[in-house]
Amino acid sequence: MVRYVYDFHEGGRAMADLLGGKGANLAEMTRLGLPVPPGFIVTTEACRAFLVTGAEPDGMSEAVSRHLSALEAGAGRLLGQPDDPLLVSVRSGARFSMPGMMETVLDIGLTDESVLGLAKASGSERFAWDSYRRLVQMFGSTVMGVDAGLFERAMEMLKEIRGVSDDIHLETSDLAELVDVYKNLIHDETGQDFPQSPAEQLRRAILAVFQSWNGERARLYRRREHIADDLGTAVTVQRMVFGNLGADSGSGVAFTRDPATGRTGLYGDYLANAQGEDVVAGIRNTVPLTELEGLDPKSYGQLREHMLTLERHYRDLCDIEFTIERGTLWMLQTRVGKRTAEAAFAIAAELIDEGLISADEALRRVSGEELARLMFPRFDTSATGDALAHGLPASPGAAVGAAVFDSAEAVRRAAAGEKVVLVRQETTPDDLPGMVAAQAVLTSRGGKTSHAAVVARGMGKVCVCGAEELTVDTHARRFTTRGGTVVEEGAVISVDGSAGAVYPGAAPLVDSVVMRYLETGLRDERSEQAVAPVARALEQADGARRLEVRANADTPEDAARARRFGAQGIGLCRTEHMFLGARRKLVEEMILADTDVARDRALDALLPLQRQDFVGILEAMDGLPVTIRLLDPPLHEFLPDHTDLAVRIATTEAHGDLPDPHDTALLDAVNRMHEENPMLGLRGVRLGLVIPGLVAMQVRAIAEAVVERKRAGGSPEAEIMVPLVGAVEELRIEREVVERVLAEVSRESGISVQCPVGTMIELPRAALTAGRIAKEAEFFSFGTNDLTQTTWGFSRDDVEAAFFSAYLDKGIFATSPFETIDRDGVGRLVEIAVSEGRAARPGLKIGVCGEHGGDPESVHFFHSAGLDYVSCSPFRIPIARLEAGRAALTGTEASDSR
Ligand code: PEP
Ligand code: MG
Repeated sequence: MVRYVYDFHEGGRAMADLLGGKGANLAEMTRLGLPVPPGFIVTTEACRAFLVTGAEPDGMSEAVSRHLSALEAGAGRLLGQPDDPLLVSVRSGARFSMPGMMETVLDIGLTDESVLGLAKASGSERFAWDSYRRLVQMFGSTVMGVDAGLFERAMEMLKEIRGVSDDIHLETSDLAELVDVYKNLIHDETGQDFPQSPAEQLRRAILAVFQSWNGERARLYRRREHIADDLGTAVTVQRMVFGNLGADSGSGVAFTRDPATGRTGLYGDYLANAQGEDVVAGIRNTVPLTELEGLDPKSYGQLREHMLTLERHYRDLCDIEFTIERGTLWMLQTRVGKRTAEAAFAIAAELIDEGLISADEALRRVSGEELARLMFPRFDTSATGDALAHGLPASPGAAVGAAVFDSAEAVRRAAAGEKVVLVRQETTPDDLPGMVAAQAVLTSRGGKTSHAAVVARGMGKVCVCGAEELTVDTHARRFTTRGGTVVEEGAVISVDGSAGAVYPGAAPLVDSVVMRYLETGLRDERSEQAVAPVARALEQADGARRLEVRANADTPEDAARARRFGAQGIGLCRTEHMFLGARRKLVEEMILADTDVARDRALDALLPLQRQDFVGILEAMDGLPVTIRLLDPPLHEFLPDHTDLAVRIATTEAHGDLPDPHDTALLDAVNRMHEENPMLGLRGVRLGLVIPGLVAMQVRAIAEAVVERKRAGGSPEAEIMVPLVGAVEELRIEREVVERVLAEVSRESGISVQCPVGTMIELPRAALTAGRIAKEAEFFSFGTNDLTQTTWGFSRDDVEAAFFSAYLDKGIFATSPFETIDRDGVGRLVEIAVSEGRAARPGLKIGVCGEHGGDPESVHFFHSAGLDYVSCSPFRIPIARLEAGRAALTGTEASDSR
C-alpha cells in the first residue's frame, strides 16, 4: 500500500522529493527540536496521482483522517470544535520553492458555530471574526473559484462606508457583516454555500492546493525556472498559530545572512500583531528584525539561537518564517535561502573560511548563471543626478526602461521591443508575467522579503521595493515623488537595485568590477569584496575542470579579449566575416568570373587580405591552438539582394536606358544561385568542392600566415576545419587540396607548415558515420547549431520566433534546444560520434563550437560525454570555466536546491 501522508516527526530533509521542500524542512526542524507547530504532509505522490485521475488516490482520505486525529489528540481538541476549535493551515510545498505561485488556505475549521468558540477561547471577538472573514475569503476564491476581486471590492466598499482607510479600523461587527456579505457572494457566484463541515473544508482545501499546481501562474513560473511539470506539490497541514492576537504577537521573516550581499548577521522584517501573510504581502510596512529585540527580548534571543542552529545544520544561508503568539515563538518555515549572485559567491567563500564547507562544495553552490549576472554593468552614480526616490535595494543590478503600471502593459510593450520598468504599490503573483517582461521592478511598499523582492531576486531581475516616498497611482498610471515630481506611464526611469535608488531618465552605466577584473586582472580595495569570492571560485574551477575552454572569435580584438578571459585557444574562427565590407567586390568578381583567369585574379586579390586576418589572430593567440574554419555560408549571401537588383534594372529600363551590364550579370548570378532552402544548400564543404580555387586560396592564406608568424618568432598553431561534412569522401577530397597547398607553401617558404585537419560534426549523417570520418579527421568539433537544426528539422533562423513559445507552453521542451543541448536527441548523436570517432582514432581531439558551448547545462553534458573542450563567445568564457569546473566535481555532499 502506498503511503500518502507523513507526520512532521516521520520526515526529514532528505525526503524533499516526496514531502516537498517546505514539508521536508518542517520535518527537519521538528527533528532538531525547534518549536514547530505540529502537523502532517500529504505527499507529492498523492498529488501526482490526483492530477492524473482527477480523484484522490485510494487510501489518501483515510490517511488524512488518521493523521488529523493524531493532531487533534495532541492538541486536546477537535478540528472546528464548537467551544474551542483547533484550526489548521493548508499550504502548498513543491520540491522546488515556487514562492506565491500556488494556493494556501488558513484558518480551516472555522464555522458559524466555532467562530463563537474561538472568540471565547481567545478572549478576542474581533480576532475570531477577522479569522473567519479571512477563511471565507480565501476558501471562496481558492477552493470555490470566486473572483478574488469581488471580495476585495466588498471590503473596500465597507471601508468607504465606515470612513476608514485600513481594515484594522473596522469594528468587530463590521467583520461579522463582511462574513455574511462574503458568504452571500459565494452563494450568488457558485450556487453553493460555504461549507460548515470542518472535515469538508480540509478535504477540499487539500485538493485545491493539488489543483493549483496546474494554475497559470505556477506553470509560467516553472517554465521560467525550468522546473519539471510532472513533480506535483505536497500539501502541509499544520496547526494554526496566530501572530495577530495583539501587541505581544507578530510575524516575521528572517535570514541568517544578508541575502543581497552575503554579509553575516541577522536580517529580516517583523510586523507586530500580524499574520505571516501580511508581512510577505507588503501591505503594511514592517520594521527591521533587530527592533524585535526591544519588543520581545525573550523571543528575539530564542530566534537568534534557532537561526544559528539552522545555519550550522544546513551549512548555508537559511531563510525563516516565524510567528510569535502571545510571547511564544513558533518556527513556521525554513529553507536554504534564495540569494543574489553577489551573495552566492560571498557566502560560499565565507563558509569555506568558517570551516563549514569544503572548497569543492563552495564551487557547487555558485553557478555560471550567477556569474553572468555579476558581469552586468551598473550605474555611474557620479552622473545619475538626484534620485527621484529611495527604497530598499532588493535585487542588485542596473536597469533602464519606461515606467509601466500594470503587468499587461509591461507584457504588451516588452513584446513590441520596448524596455520597461514595472511600477506597483506591491506585487502579487498575478504580476508575474509583467515581472518577467520588465527590466526591473519598483514598488512603493513592502520589505526585502515582499513578493516583489523575493521573486525578482530569484529571477536575477533588478528590484527596488518599499520606496515609500512614491505615491503610485495605478489607475491614473503615474507616480508622484515626495517633491511633487510626476512620472507618467512611458517616461524612462533608471532603477539601481544595488543602491535602492530610482533616477529620472536613462542614467549612464559603468562596467561591473567583476567584468573589469576578468578582463584586466585588476583588483583593488574597493572592488575586492565583490571580486575576491569570484576569483576564488574560478581558481577552484580551473583546478578541477577537465574540459578546456576555447573561444569563438574571428578578429584579433575578440581573440585578445578571449585570452584575457582565460580562453585556451580559438575553437572556431569563422572566415565568412572576412568576405564582407570592401572585399565583397572581390567575392562578386570571383562568383561572376567566366574564365579561370578571371576567377584566379579575384582569388589572388583576396589572398593577401585573408593572410593578414590570420596573421592578426594567430598573433593574438600565439602559442595556443586556433581552429580556422573554411568558408561555410552559401555564396549568394555575398551578392546583392535580388529585389534591389531587379528594381534597379527595371527602373533604368523604364527610363529608356540600357541597364548596367554588371547589374545584369549579377542578377543572372543571383537567379542562378537562388535556393529555396539555403541553409541546406550549397554551403560548407560543398562550396569548396564546386568552386575551384576557393579552398586553395583560404588554405594558402592560413599557411602563409603561419610562415609569417614563425618568421617573426611566434608559435602559431593553426588548425584547419572543414564545415558541414556529411560523408567521409567529401572530407577526403577537400583534405587532399589542403595538404597539397600546405606542402606547396612549405616548399616555397622553406618552413614546414603542418596544420591538423579536422571536421565539424554538424549533420546527423556525420555523427552516424563518425567512425569512417575519423579516419580522415585529426579532430572533431561539434557544430551543435546546425546539428540541432538538422536533427529536429528546425530552421534555426525561423522557428524560435515562429512557434517556440507554443512548444514551450505545451511542454514539448523546457528550453529552446538551440539554447540548451537536447540530450536525448542531439546529445545522443554526440555520444555516438564520440564513441565511434575515438574507436576509429584513439585519442581523437573533440570539442564543440555551437552556441551550446557557453550554456551551463550543456557544458555539464559535454563534460560527461567526454569532450576535450568547449568553445564559446568571449564573454561566456568565465561562465564556461566555472561550469566546467562544477561539472568535474565528484561526490554528492548534500546541497539544497534554492
Ligand atoms: C554550428 O553549426 O554549431 C556552428 C558552430 O556553425 P555555424 O553556427 O557557423 O553554422
Ligand atoms: Mg554550422
